Amino acid sequence: MSTLSILGGGIAGLTAASSLAKAGHQVDLIDNNVRVGGRISSFSKNGFLFDKGPSWYWMPDVFERFFNEFGRTQSDFYDLKQLDPGFKIFYEGDNTLMVPSNREALYEVFEEIEKGSAAQLKLFLEDAEIKYNLSMSDLVYNPSLSWFEFVNKRTIEGVIKNKIFQSFDKHVRKYFKDDRLIQLMEFPVLFLGAKPSNIPSLYSLMNHAALNQGTFYPMGGMIKIAEAFEQIAREQGVQIHCGETVQSIDIKNGQVLEISTNHQNIAQMELWLGWTITTLSKTSLNKVGEITMRPIGTSERSLHHR
Ligand SMILES: Cc1cc2nc3c(=O)[nH]c(=O)nc-3n(C[C@H](O)[C@H](O)[C@H](O)COP(=O)(O)OP(=O)(O)OC[C@H]3O[C@@H](n4cnc5c(N)ncnc54)[C@H](O)[C@@H]3O)c2cc1C
Repeated sequence: MSTLSILGGGIAGLTAASSLAKAGHQVDLIDNNVRVGGRISSFSKNGFLFDKGPSWYWMPDVFERFFNEFGRTQSDFYDLKQLDPGFKIFYEGDNTLMVPSNREALYEVFEEIEKGSAAQLKLFLEDAEIKYNLSMSDLVYNPSLSWFEFVNKRTIEGVIKNKIFQSFDKHVRKYFKDDRLIQLMEFPVLFLGAKPSNIPSLYSLMNHAALNQGTFYPMGGMIKIAEAFEQIAREQGVQIHCGETVQSIDIKNGQVLEISTNHQNIAQMELWLGWTITTLSKTSLNKVGEITMRPIGTSERSLHHR
């Protein structure tokens, strides 16, 4: 067992903290906000609750898998409703399009816009489902420490057969001609922060999430997700320190020796950063302050309150 600290109590930090605590480690999670959840946050006004960050609940199976790892299920924490229509698209001008969650109704919407597109949608979504399953079974849950994790017959065959590296925009245009349908099919990958021309067609798995699985909403707001993840972390014995800002990280020979917050110095064995890759950029590193190379002579855990 080692003692380790997780910086950041968003969904990533909470997930890592719970998993590491379950594996038997002593885990401290440090977050500068007054409560955990990170970008999942909300505020209330005039009796209404507003989500400040995420509002699209896709891939419920991913959440369920997390809950199951701790012997729980999503309905232990919140009531999840599938939305119908799933969402509404606003095109340029006054054009809008309701996207029904029912598949037959969706075929009708497509067919009205472009003749023959219902059959094309069926083919597109069948392919998207294969990509989703390939990703979930062989790609997403690997720790990505080495390319060798992905070198096995099934994954390589799946990658080649499903042409997952073809660009997403070309992939969509093989199936649809109408601009409105193309925009509808391309929009989910915008969540990845890149243009469809720069995204591989593997990510039609997002269309599977949007159109095969559907869009959901936890009653009581997205904050329910943060509360559920926090509860699991606490049940696993994670010590949560809110309102604490990490100000510097001391590193020697590539080893993190001590992190300093505005409340304490923590000497420790390991440090985990609970930020997404996109936020773990120069900006985030600046946020944790200057990284110094000061040796402190111990790797045992000690807390020095200031
Ligand atoms: C407006 C918006 C809408 C979004 N919509 C969706 C959506 O609909 N569906 C969806 O799935 N995703 C959505 N996302 C993305 C999703 O919210 C994020 O990917 C996810 O919440 C990131 O979680 P995280 O734990 O990686 O990081 P974060 O939630 O950013 O957590 C990082 C934590 O680290 C803390 N921290 C930072 N610096 C320090 C420091 N020096 N000391 C201590 N603590 C520190 C921060 O306060 C924060 O609590 C949206 C994001 C935003 C911003």
